[in-house]
Amino acid sequence: MLPSAATMTAHLDAVRRFIRDVPDFPKPGILFKDITPLLADPTAFTTVLDSISSHFAPRGVDKVLGVESRGFIFGAALAARMGAGFVPARKPGKLPAAVDRVSYSLEYGSDSLEMHKNSFAPDERVLVVDDVIATGGTASAAVALARTQGANVVGIAFVIELAFLKGRTRLPDDVEVFSLLTY
Ligand code: AMP
Repeated sequence: MLPSAATMTAHLDAVRRFIRDVPDFPKPGILFKDITPLLADPTAFTTVLDSISSHFAPRGVDKVLGVESRGFIFGAALAARMGAGFVPARKPGKLPAAVDRVSYSLEYGSDSLEMHKNSFAPDERVLVVDDVIATGGTASAAVALARTQGANVVGIAFVIELAFLKGRTRLPDDVEVFSLLTY
């Protein structure tokens, strides 16, 4: 049985304590949200998985698309828990077979995400998962990638939203965005 809403709120406050702020990583001026303490605590990790899976279970998720690399950790665990398949969206050149690719702009320059061709059947119901949304470029590229294969993106889930960067505004209006912890 899942915990009550009040119990879940108390658990989420506890989860927040397992996010470690690391200043100036990977470069000066960035406050990195390190989720490794959270992963190392079984109660905190389970709370994250329970919260996201119970939120999206009613939507009927066929596959989870996890974004390299910390989206793999949460996405794969969520997929197994939700009875869904898992698909990795990877940085260029990592996947061995034929891929589809979407490029997106960064503050300086651009980056790309790739996914194996035929990862999704048309109209398959997909949940996109990553650990953090900052400017929203990565997640919007992951949604675009899923849509190139005709997937029906039913939601986008993050453990952490850096709300002051307004990344949500880069995501499509017609997809539900769920973040567990907002900063
Ligand atoms: P963005 O495309 O700007 O939304 O950046 C999101 C991606 O970068 C995610 O895959 C995050 O893992 C990573 N990321 C960006 N900013 C941070 C941060 N402050 N702490 C940890 N990860 C971050």
